[in-house]
This record gives sequence, structure tokens and C-alpha cells, in this order.
Amino acid sequence: MIEAVDVAKVYRRGRTEVRALAGVSLTVPKGEFLSVMGPSGSGKSTLLNLLGALDVAGSGSLRIDGRELSRMKDDELSAFRRERLGFVFQFFNLMPTMTALENVMLPGLLSGRGQVELRRRAETLLETVGLGGRTHHRPDELSGGEMQRVAVARALLMEPAVLLADEPTGNLDSRTGAEVLRMLREATRERGLTVVMVTHDLKAAEVGDRIVRLADGLIVGDERVVHEQAA
Ligand code: ADP
Ligand code: ADP
Repeated sequence: MIEAVDVAKVYRRGRTEVRALAGVSLTVPKGEFLSVMGPSGSGKSTLLNLLGALDVAGSGSLRIDGRELSRMKDDELSAFRRERLGFVFQFFNLMPTMTALENVMLPGLLSGRGQVELRRRAETLLETVGLGGRTHHRPDELSGGEMQRVAVARALLMEPAVLLADEPTGNLDSRTGAEVLRMLREATRERGLTVVMVTHDLKAAEVGDRIVRLADGLIVGDERVVHEQAA
């Protein structure tokens, strides 16, 4: 589902060069929930930006959902991003003037999908994340956890192959954060979705199937998480 081979990224500012990723190889199978950890400056955001087709690698190969990103033109990349990827951010990034329902429908409206079907899907998704009673609330009428659940529903609207989450619990208390993670976890299991989540929080990371650790632009750890089987 995601296959990165020797992916490198150098940022140049004037005469200084920063090697943000120094050759990362990583395979994430369909349906896996991968957590990425590492100190500040280790390359986590750079990796997420490359996986999210928001930036292009300097070298190496990056295949997502069967497509080699380096061979795609800008307009193909934006279409790919809209149709195949979902994003969840630390600060939710909801449109403040829109209701929960409108926020969830937005990616579909931007892709030119029919309103009626989008509305039905958005309502179902809000129901799924436990917000069936909040569809007409605006973000300022919702709690942080509710806003993030709206963001998860929005990220799932287009049935993406891969969901990228950047510190999705970073702005939530631990109990609310755990609920949001459980929802991401369930979405992965039910839809065969692949999740890549950057987090500083080990407890959050352990909700995933696997934890990859970055340091200085390299993978320095890659372990499976052992989950207790529910009785
Ligand atoms: P992390 O997300 O783990 O904190 P980043 O991927 O943001 O790490 O950064 C990796 C390295 O690349 C850091 O040294 C950072 O300062 C540098 N960097 C990140 N983005 C840019 C940029 N746009 N221009 C220059 N340097 C950058
Ligand atoms: P985070 O690790 O919380 O995701 P960022 O990725 O935004 O944080 O930034 C990580 C590091 O990269 C910081 O040290 C920041 O100064 C640096 N950085 C990010 N974007 C740029 C940029 N456009 N130019 C230079 N440095 C950057």
C-alpha cells in the first residue's frame, strides 16, 4: 500500500543544506496502523508531507496505492491527494463558519460529487463517530474531541486508501485523545484503511500496530506493538 525505497529530502536555504530525510525505506501494508515517533527535527513532518503528496522527495521511490508519486505531475498529485488520501491535523483545521455536516461534506463538494449522496455519506460518518446529534453545530459549539471526530469523519468521506494524521491527539486530553484513536483504529479495521500517524505520545503510538522511530532523518527503530487480546 505504501512503499518507500531510499527516500531522501534535502532542504536548501541559501548556502545551507538540511538533510531532513537521509534515505528512508519503509513498507506499510494495506490495513496497517503505523505510528511514527522521533525527536523534534528528526524528519517526521517531512515524511508525512511526502506521503501526503504535499511535497516531493529529492530522491528515492515512493509508491502509494500503486502510484509512483515522483512520476506524477502537480495536477495529478492534487487529484491523488483529494481522492486517495485523508488528513487529520493537531488543530483540526475545520472551517469555522460551516456546520459539522458541511465540514465533512467539503472534500466531496470540492471534488464535484453530488450533494445528495454526499450529505447521506456525511451523516452516516458523523453517526459512526458518535456525532449524530451534532450535525448542525459549528466548530465553536463543539469540544476539542468532537472537533477531531468531525475531522476524522471528513478524512474518511472520500474513502481514502491512506489516512495521514499529524499529532491528532496533541491538543486533546488523554481520555478524549484515546477515544479519537479508538475511532481511527476501528476505521482502519473496518475499511482496510492504512494509517500513518505522527505522535510524541507513546500511549497514543501504542494504539497502532507498529511503531517506527526516526532520528536525524533515518529509521532507527521498527517494532510491532503487542496488543492484549480482549477476552
Ligand atoms: P520533525 O517533524 O521530526 O520535527 P521535520 O521533518 O520538520 O522534523 O524537520 C527535519 C529537519 O528539516 C529539521 O532539521 C528541520 O529544521 C528541517 N526542515 C523542515 N522543513 C524545512 C523547510 N521547509 N526548510 C528548511 N528546513 C526544514
Ligand atoms: P513539528 O515537529 O511540530 O511538526 P515542524 O515540522 O513545523 O514541527 O518544524 C520542525 C522543525 O522544522 C522546526 O525546528 C522548524 O523551525 C523547522 N522548519 C519547519 N518549517 C520550516 C521552514 N519553512 N523553514 C525552515 N525551517 C523550518
